[in-house]
Amino acid sequence: MPELPEVEITKKTLQKHVVDQTIQDLQIKNRNLRYKIDNEFKNKIVKKKIVNISRRSKYLVFLLSDGNYFIIHLGMSGRLLIANKKQKKFLDTSFYASHPAIKKHNHVYFLFKKKILIYNDTRRFGFIKYYNSKEFLNCQHLINLGVEPLSSECNFAQLSQKIKKYNKSIKNVLMDQTCIAGLGNIYVNEALFLSKIHPERNSLRVDAPELKKLLQAIKDILKKSIRLGGSTIKDFHNSEGKIGSFQNYFKVYGRENEKCTRSRCGGMIKKITIGGRASFFCNICQQ
Ligand SMILES: [Zn+2]
Repeated sequence: MPELPEVEITKKTLQKHVVDQTIQDLQIKNRNLRYKIDNEFKNKIVKKKIVNISRRSKYLVFLLSDGNYFIIHLGMSGRLLIANKKQKKFLDTSFYASHPAIKKHNHVYFLFKKKILIYNDTRRFGFIKYYNSKEFLNCQHLINLGVEPLSSECNFAQLSQKIKKYNKSIKNVLMDQTCIAGLGNIYVNEALFLSKIHPERNSLRVDAPELKKLLQAIKDILKKSIRLGGSTIKDFHNSEGKIGSFQNYFKVYGRENEKCTRSRCGGMIKKITIGGRASFFCNICQQ
């Protein structure tokens, strides 16, 4: 599942390749994503220039030259590919994907003068939605989001106040998008390991030094992932995609029954389900 670092890398890659480019044409092979792509979408965006691409949580926000917007969410398995029209080379902006993109899951093609932006999605839980400038202000996907984890607003003072409003496990608080926006399951698991907090602990019982540590862990791991991810997708490839090896960097996520990597801990990584999502933690050092 694409998480915040991957969406951030995707944003940066798209900024390099399609910002200031005019959408010459749009080809839709399959409109039936999580939400059906509006029939008028093509008419609304063709001949418009993309003037900016930003990220809010895991949403990519495209600003068009007429002041209107469309957003892309990658859902569970969405990814964006950039193709060079002439050389038939592809750049896959996904770095978690364990298998190359398959052509039959290419659902939408945005055609530019020299490049093509392809929306590929095996499970079709992602979506593309258009908003005029007025509608955008009330966009239901963006309006209730919490703070961006890498922003300066995501700090100890704010978070310690905010966390008091929730009376549930720290794992569920961190997964709640109204608290911190865009933190996904992988990073929550990893950050709780780094700060030695058991995922089921009630958020009200996380003390100030622990919360400081947790906050730092969240920021550090997101930054590290963005750095590593960026270095894995720098180049265009000769095929549609490549094999990712990013999961090797995780310390608990997906490591059930392995030994804890913390020296002298001697614990074992356990897997439980919290809020319907897999949670991985060390049974000794996370309390
Ligand atoms: Zn341990």
